[in-house]
Amino acid sequence: MKVVKFGGSSLASGEQFQKVLNIINADPTRKVIVTSAPGKRFAEDVKVTDLLIEYAQKTLEQQDTTEVIQQIWTRYQEIAAFFALEPQKFAFLHQELVDLPIAFNDEPEYLMAAFKAHGEKLCAQLLALILQEQGLPTRFLDPQDAGFLVSSAASDAQVLPETYQNLLKWREVPEILVVPGFYGVTTQGKIATFSRGGSDITGSIWARGIKADLYENFTDVNAIYSADPRIVAKPHPIKIMTYRELRELSYAGFSVFHDEALIPAIQGQVFINVKNTNHPELPGTMIVPEKDFHPKSTITGVASSNHFSALYLHKYLLNKETGFTLKLLELFYKFNISYEHMPSGIDDLTVIFDKRQFTEELREQMCSEIQKVIHPDQLEWIDDYAIIMVVGEGMRNKIGAMKNITTPLAKEHIAIHMINQGASRISIMLGTKKEDAANAVSQIYQQFFKGVAKS
Ligand code: ASP
Repeated sequence: MKVVKFGGSSLASGEQFQKVLNIINADPTRKVIVTSAPGKRFAEDVKVTDLLIEYAQKTLEQQDTTEVIQQIWTRYQEIAAFFALEPQKFAFLHQELVDLPIAFNDEPEYLMAAFKAHGEKLCAQLLALILQEQGLPTRFLDPQDAGFLVSSAASDAQVLPETYQNLLKWREVPEILVVPGFYGVTTQGKIATFSRGGSDITGSIWARGIKADLYENFTDVNAIYSADPRIVAKPHPIKIMTYRELRELSYAGFSVFHDEALIPAIQGQVFINVKNTNHPELPGTMIVPEKDFHPKSTITGVASSNHFSALYLHKYLLNKETGFTLKLLELFYKFNISYEHMPSGIDDLTVIFDKRQFTEELREQMCSEIQKVIHPDQLEWIDDYAIIMVVGEGMRNKIGAMKNITTPLAKEHIAIHMINQGASRISIMLGTKKEDAANAVSQIYQQFFKGVAKS
């Protein structure tokens, strides 16, 4: 039994819906279908979710919503028209859309969540209708009825553990289940969504809950690639990789699959297959547990990410001073700041942060308090910091991987500001200047993949 999730671009138009239908029809073990909201049809297009956000904002500000409702409705109408669905059969969806302000007249954050969630809900209802019209026994299943329970954070919900038992009950129903991605219901019966792109998470939760053999994640790329195709021309597609390889690469910018979506699949040990809706005949990328995985190459991928800042602190005899790090961590806690890494030397310490947490003001306040409380001899804030992740299960048993990483960088005069190798030995993290990051990725990629045949 398979759980199959289709992303926004896979459901963006009637033509795309047709491909989805073909995929569902091609394999009777595709049992649970998870939908995103219709995404972009072309580069400048607007995702339905973003239109719904606009609709919610206008509702909250008591502005006219006629135009945005029409824009949203046109997206669904066009899909229905492609399948020549009779208007009265799907008119209830229009009513649902228009009635959102009445049905969810709630605190602003829950109103926003409920509006956003309807991109996937209307899409799932429409897909179920089209499948039924084509004679396939299908059932639309609302998260409320499914028992898909989540925590109360309106736009960053987490699944509640009882959801898994609730979902298992649906394993035996004879119909194909079409379920909306991206949201669940709180124990108070309110709609709460996952973070953006969260339909991947829904699919993974269903796959674990229903004990699926495979979680197929259909998107618009042929595979996950060994490097970002915007940096490296025609990089190697990854045939197979482990959960933790993907976790490490997602951390540094691989964004094909939502990083939070890995967790339920890992807990349930469900294999994930990322595939292309436009080329379902291609094998895509399989993501599997570490156990029994035999790496064929030294590295699986290399990625870079620029949203980091570093705080450099220098103090003589830092290694002898007790409580230095403790005081520093207390200050991070006070300012509600999490840190990513903290490589240290005898007299210095660098702390790397996700800089999206900071406003200019918050950073200044925090740095001035650090100066006051722990009196470093030098405090420097480095804003143009990038992290490069070189990842591969194959590095564990390979001596000399580091040489192959540093040699091409030295040739290009790229300075390495930090090196960090985790105990798992499957990843090496480098800190470089932001302007060197893309070149560093490209050089490391060439070093490991040049001459390797794309199988
Ligand atoms: N539609 C939601 C978004 O645009 C969730 C998803 O597509 O996975 O973020």
